[in-house]
Amino acid sequence: MPQALKLYNSLSRKKEVFQPLNEGFIGLYVCGPTVYSDVHLGNVRTFTSFDIIYRHLLHRGYKVRYVRNITDVGHLTDEGEDKMSKGARVAKLEPMEVAQKYTVGFHEMMRRFNNKPPSIEPRASGHIIEQIEMVQEILKNGYAYESNGSVYFDVAAFNEKNDGMYGHLSGRKIDELLAESRELKAQGDKRNPTDFAIWMKATPDHILRWNSPWGEGFPGWHLECSAMSTKYLGEQFDIHGGGNDLKFPHHENEIAQNAGSCGCGGARYWLHTNMLLMNGRKMSKSDGNTITPQQLFTGDSPHVTDSYSPMMLRFFMLQTHYRSPMDLTDEALQAAKKGYARLTEAWANLQNLEGQGGAQNGTVGKELTAGLAAAYAEMDDDFNTPKALAKVFELVSRINALKGGQLSLKEVSKETLEIFRNDLGTLLFDVFGLQDEGAAAGANDEAFGKVMDLVLDLRAQARAEKNWGMSDKMRDGLKAAGVVVKDGKDGSEWSVE
Ligand code: AMP
Ligand code: ZN
Repeated sequence: MPQALKLYNSLSRKKEVFQPLNEGFIGLYVCGPTVYSDVHLGNVRTFTSFDIIYRHLLHRGYKVRYVRNITDVGHLTDEGEDKMSKGARVAKLEPMEVAQKYTVGFHEMMRRFNNKPPSIEPRASGHIIEQIEMVQEILKNGYAYESNGSVYFDVAAFNEKNDGMYGHLSGRKIDELLAESRELKAQGDKRNPTDFAIWMKATPDHILRWNSPWGEGFPGWHLECSAMSTKYLGEQFDIHGGGNDLKFPHHENEIAQNAGSCGCGGARYWLHTNMLLMNGRKMSKSDGNTITPQQLFTGDSPHVTDSYSPMMLRFFMLQTHYRSPMDLTDEALQAAKKGYARLTEAWANLQNLEGQGGAQNGTVGKELTAGLAAAYAEMDDDFNTPKALAKVFELVSRINALKGGQLSLKEVSKETLEIFRNDLGTLLFDVFGLQDEGAAAGANDEAFGKVMDLVLDLRAQARAEKNWGMSDKMRDGLKAAGVVVKDGKDGSEWSVE
């Protein structure tokens, strides 16, 4: 029986023992990206955190249905324009072309960081009917009203009948919210400034629009997550996640919509990741305090002195707990690069070690087993990756000492070392999601070498047949791909430029 899994529930503001609704199964929903621009490093941090959480749940043997949506409609800018339409207008594209372009880019970035794809990735624009139906339910229950072609959620009416539920998650007080928003300019068709749109009337120039019982319009951003989580995970499900900037209003509104439509609470555990900072300040495009993942891979930015691979960056992220702010600085990246190299070196060293003890373990063997169990236990304590990594580094020291002879392999049984190697690999690669880049690169190099042998063989054949055109075409094509071919009397040689 594995030990209990504890997680910090933002709703109760404390760590709780996790109990799934159905034994052995977990429904997990994470708010996905709004696909109107390139994914930034802050997004990557949040999705990588949830990838590690997903991986750990899988490792514990749960069957997890992981739903992460794509927001391609309804997320408005501060000026009230749909982010997708704005992206399309600026780039002179169809909104769905913009969505497609950045969805592809997002997937590619997730792949580079070795984040597993979710089980279902629904698009908001593909679930308009479900959203309209949810609006109808909320209207029927008396928690919304129609006004001039738009439908608004009536926060005061909802709160009166639901023990003041609105504001629980974010800790906001309705009275204070009212006081704050009263100072804002005209609130249009809303009865109360705290009310929020669940369906919006489309102005004549609004591109993304659908027919509805209230005329042509489009769904509110908050509604999509309520509708899609309910559709794929049920009216009640286990875990809902997102960055903590979404707690209010997005998640607060989601909870109200779920309760307002079906009388049930939606997710039972709410998990929130903390923000990514750079040099102690919020990463922001407007004041130049920003860096793209691509710039980190190449080192082409005034903010860094070196290049950093996706796996090294993943390791860097593992060093901070998902609920703590993460500060990206060049010094911290440099330190993490050294740490990551030390870890990969120890892993390589471990491959060549063999236990030499008898059936019984000595102290070292016992320490290896206990150290690894302690690392896994940290993951069971609200996915504490920095503490788990610290335990792993205690093991790194032991592995290196076993290799260097300061510790004796006679103190470790053959079987214990086998199990240890296996279980450490599971933690590093399956749970942390790191990749053995050395092995992957080696395999790629080998395959590339074989392909080049084949290409040069075919070219030699063309030359033997005096097909100079083909031979030159191949040489020029290879040159364009960065491979230089030199012809000598003993055949041809190639090198990468
Ligand atoms: P968005 O594409 O803006 O809807 O955001 C997608 C996800 O990334 C959400 O869960 C956000 O909370 C999260 N996110 C946005 N900015 C940051 C940041 N600076 N650090 C960490 N997570 C972020
Ligand atoms: Zn959401």
